[in-house]
Amino acid sequence: MTRVAMREEGLLASVRDALCRAESPRIAMVRPCTGEEEKRAVSEVLDSGILAQGPAVRDFEKAFAAFCGVEHAVAVANGTLALHAALLAAGVGEGAEVVTTPFSFIATANAVLMAGARPVFADVDPVTLNLDPESARSAVTPDTCAILVVHLYGRPCPMDAFRSLAQETGARLIEDACQAHGAEHRGRRAGALGDMGCFSFYATKNMTCGEGGMITTDDGEAASRVARLRFHGQEPGGRYVHRELGYNYRLTDVAASIGLCQLAKLPAMNGIRAGNAAIYDRLLGGLPGLEIPVRQDGIVHAYHQYTVRIRESLFGLDRDGLARLLRGLGVETGIHYPLPLHIYPQFRSLGYAWGDFPRAEQASREVLSLPVGPHLGADEVEYVAACIREVARRVAP
Ligand SMILES: *Cc1c(COP(=O)(O)O)cnc(C)c1O
Repeated sequence: MTRVAMREEGLLASVRDALCRAESPRIAMVRPCTGEEEKRAVSEVLDSGILAQGPAVRDFEKAFAAFCGVEHAVAVANGTLALHAALLAAGVGEGAEVVTTPFSFIATANAVLMAGARPVFADVDPVTLNLDPESARSAVTPDTCAILVVHLYGRPCPMDAFRSLAQETGARLIEDACQAHGAEHRGRRAGALGDMGCFSFYATKNMTCGEGGMITTDDGEAASRVARLRFHGQEPGGRYVHRELGYNYRLTDVAASIGLCQLAKLPAMNGIRAGNAAIYDRLLGGLPGLEIPVRQDGIVHAYHQYTVRIRESLFGLDRDGLARLLRGLGVETGIHYPLPLHIYPQFRSLGYAWGDFPRAEQASREVLSLPVGPHLGADEVEYVAACIREVARRVAP
């Protein structure tokens, strides 16, 4: 056994002792919250005989547009395709540049490549880890066609600054809101904060239909363009009239019927997330070397993730060490994300290297996401926090 492993074994035993737990509970990062409503909705769709895109997709789009406070919502098969279609509808293509963050899920920047364009990364804000408007400004060139912001972990970006930047440069402003269902910025919901918003309903998101996606916009032309792209470029109502290359990005009625149930539950599910986050804030705030997510006026965080930062020199243990100890105590955690995007081969080959975005790179070594979803009761969240406090007390330098 290595010295580190021996130290961790000893720590685990003493934390278990302190918490008076013979056996650790099992606390998962995610569990989709579906129930009888979803089952009933799916079986109604099966009975209807319309399984592919049909009336349930239309109802889901209507309800989602109303929820976000936009004119139009167009459902697609997943969030990645929502981004791809939105970028194409924004005029992004061969030779264009899209300014975006290097600290996100890889789909954000992959969608730019899928559109044939070049992702131009700019560093993140050191506190929120969202794309920093000033860094984004210095990444803009005459070829910039769009700015693609990501509301990371469910925290809306500073959209006033991004709207000004988009206006000054003539770029389209696209929100990757795949983690931000129901998040708010000065009273407006994510998806209504730029020219177009893109959502995912993947199984781990704040609301799910297994796989699914949505584009939201007030721009009628953009909405019809995405609707065409979703169906092989077919004109609305013009069967077999295809004026441009399109794809099959359709959502099924089976999925949409689940999505409708989940949308109805979203405010309650987000409420539980917020309550769980408040427990962490209270119990973890002020621990040396552990930074909790900052609270900001005018911002409603959707807490898709509750992500803390571990500063090893102050905390006394590095992020990975804490994650291993928590696993030993029955607590699953996540790392969002272990590598900044510019380091992956498909972006690195565009000329990026380590050192280009120091704030994103540092974050990738320090972030740790704690379980916060609506599948958790307050007692479970309190257990996670107690584990961390007991570890912190013992490792503090
Ligand atoms: C989940 C996610 C996506 C992709 O959505 P899929 O439905 O999995 O394709 C894109 N961007 C971000 C930030 C995400 O979290």
